[in-house]
Amino acid sequence: MKSSSKKESDKISCANTLAKPKTDRMICPNCKSPNNKVLETRQQGESELRRRRECLDCKQRFSTIESWLIRMPYVVKKDGAREPFDGQKLRRGLQLACLKRPVSLPQIESIVQKVTTRLSAAGEREVKSLEIGHWVIRELKELDHVAYVRFASVYSTFEDINEFVRSLSHDLENPSAKSELQ
Ligand SMILES: [Zn+2]
Repeated sequence: MKSSSKKESDKISCANTLAKPKTDRMICPNCKSPNNKVLETRQQGESELRRRRECLDCKQRFSTIESWLIRMPYVVKKDGAREPFDGQKLRRGLQLACLKRPVSLPQIESIVQKVTTRLSAAGEREVKSLEIGHWVIRELKELDHVAYVRFASVYSTFEDINEFVRSLSHDLENPSAKSELQ
């Protein structure tokens, strides 16, 4: 068996075996050896698999993520403009709508995941921004009434997550505008 007294020379030799760059195996970030074993595999959400690996040559441990590579449909706004779906924007909008409300980050994350999964499963080239807003609103309704009203009132007016985030930030920073939200 291999001892733990591996030296620099070994690192160099295993790096050299990788002179051919073509490999379909995960290579070690330290010594670039393709020889590693999986120590642990963990499912993260529905779409992600994380693997903890150990390099058999230099013993470096590292993690890899396997996830779906998905072609998402374009989001069509009310004015006809198209843009790629941005889960991060949706997340921010939700976080703002749920500010100081009893909705946890995992719950928000779950909505983002559901919307993302639904969009990818739709198989459409384009999805209306309004439709996405409705999916989110339906999910929020189950969780918290205030967050739901905040999201619904602003989203249905603007139908644009960017404008929505801007407007909601503004409202939350200005207490005078608060009454509109409740
Ligand atoms: Zn290595």
